[in-house]
Amino acid sequence: MPNTASTIKLLQFPNLHVVMHPLVQHKLSQLRDKNRPSIGFRGLLREITLLMGYEALRDLPMTTAPIETPVAMMQAPVLAGSAPTLVPIIRAGLAMADAMLELIPTASTGHIGIYRDHDSKQAVEYLVRLPENQGQLFLITDPMLATGNSLIHATEVLVKNGVRREQIRVLALVAAPEGVAAFAARWPDIPIFCAALDSHLNEHAYIVPGLGDAGDRIFGT
Ligand code: URA
Repeated sequence: MPNTASTIKLLQFPNLHVVMHPLVQHKLSQLRDKNRPSIGFRGLLREITLLMGYEALRDLPMTTAPIETPVAMMQAPVLAGSAPTLVPIIRAGLAMADAMLELIPTASTGHIGIYRDHDSKQAVEYLVRLPENQGQLFLITDPMLATGNSLIHATEVLVKNGVRREQIRVLALVAAPEGVAAFAARWPDIPIFCAALDSHLNEHAYIVPGLGDAGDRIFGT
């Protein structure tokens, strides 16, 4: 994946791309505010995802197709191959996948339901529904990369279902170093896009400073 002007890569995490675009950073700061109500939280999450999706998909394969403009025929650039599949990790990943569907309305959606066991902090899977694999990109969405357990598990589900590692990419919002390290130890060559690499996890495996429980803040629970 190329480095771009608004995306940085960190030496210790070569698979991590932090989208530093000022609009993303400004909106993320607004999102972190604990006084932001759900309606504002969802709107900002949608806007950030649209901006991040632009970066995460900048190398999508292209071809040309004949298009007739009101003036002339032309060979116009269009996306090549099968449209990507969005794979939200339920539930917080759903809001990011919805935003991505606005960017790529032809995308299919696979669902992976995983919850984090309160005591063990381990990932527990309760739902897997995936569309047919036609060699397309599979973009896993999950706003909070905390311990990395859910993301590692979701990636394992994809690989077990025949998706090649090169087809997989992750779109997160806020990442903790512990989760990025755990994911990179298991899947070193799968790119992760996020808007911030935060300080650490606290004793409840919440990201610090983070933004709290993303699912609760999205759905008002
Ligand atoms: N999940 C969240 O929603 N927030 C965190 O900080 C960690 C995991």
